[in-house]
Amino acid sequence: MPGPRRYDYLITGGAGFIGSHLCEFLLSKGNSVLVLDDLSTGSLSNLDECSDNPSFRFVVGSVLDESLTRGLVHQCNKVIHLAAAVGVENIIQRPVETIETNVKGTENILLAASGDNTPVFIASTSEVYGKSENIPFREDGDIVLGATSRSRWSYACSKAIDEFLALAYWKDKGLPVIIGRLFNTVGPRQSGRYGMVLPRFIEQALSGKPITVFGDGEQTRSFSLVYEVVDAIVALVENPEAIGKVVNIGSTQEISIGDLAEKVKEITDSISEIRFISYEEAYPDDFEDMRRRAPDVSLLQSLTGSFPEADIEAIIRDILK
Ligand code: UDP
Repeated sequence: MPGPRRYDYLITGGAGFIGSHLCEFLLSKGNSVLVLDDLSTGSLSNLDECSDNPSFRFVVGSVLDESLTRGLVHQCNKVIHLAAAVGVENIIQRPVETIETNVKGTENILLAASGDNTPVFIASTSEVYGKSENIPFREDGDIVLGATSRSRWSYACSKAIDEFLALAYWKDKGLPVIIGRLFNTVGPRQSGRYGMVLPRFIEQALSGKPITVFGDGEQTRSFSLVYEVVDAIVALVENPEAIGKVVNIGSTQEISIGDLAEKVKEITDSISEIRFISYEEAYPDDFEDMRRRAPDVSLLQSLTGSFPEADIEAIIRDILK
């Protein structure tokens, strides 16, 4: 028999960029939080604001460890599963790790949760829409992925499998699951180390190095501030209507990467030049980018009453603070 549940939430990947903001938010609302993180891309310093809180506990370990995962899930009322391989560069360099962490890790969480029917939020990604041109992306729209010889798509594919598996647990076993497809999320503490564009541009601009725009810079993304994403995740987790659903979490404000570089340069008052770099030069592998990415947020709005709205200039200024 499992023991008593001692924590309100288990956050896998809680030492990561989004996870650590989520922990801070949940603790500030009086919840108790248990974090599991292998510190592969996350770091303990992200949790500096949490570590002294008596309602907080950190466990270093991997979601790939089945018995550890099972033991921790059974101590918590709800699971928010964020642990995953992240960052396009990281994913291209470590394809085996990406697929195994994303698929096996999520399988372990769902299996453990189904043991005592623990509700699970699964963090998926806008990457699953792939090259679809049906902008804005709706959750029930088709997904369009590239060839398996291009490692980038293994990330989208592994996350799509996570979604299928989570929905199968819901349909087959009645496990309460919610899937959030996170679009580009940015904010304080995000590292540019794994390729993410905005922290990288800001670092480049502040150090006077060239701001590196890949391709023609006409590709677009929609950036949300991490606090708004955290609000959306918690609002979904608290809403029984969200169970069994796949929900976009992102901003509707699309911006081209070239314009983003200009804005960063302007707001930081940087002397950096904006340098265009071909994809062949930027990525060693046979690489494919997506031209546009923007969510339809009507489902998020109907379930939570809001969606991320901070504009990109406010976001850049917030990060600089
Ligand atoms: N990008 C760029 N310069 C960089 C890093 C990224 O121009 O130094 C581009 C990248 O090719 C993509 C966009 O910025 O078109 C967003 O990249 P990121 O890796 O942040 O996330 P993605 O949305 O591709 O997952």
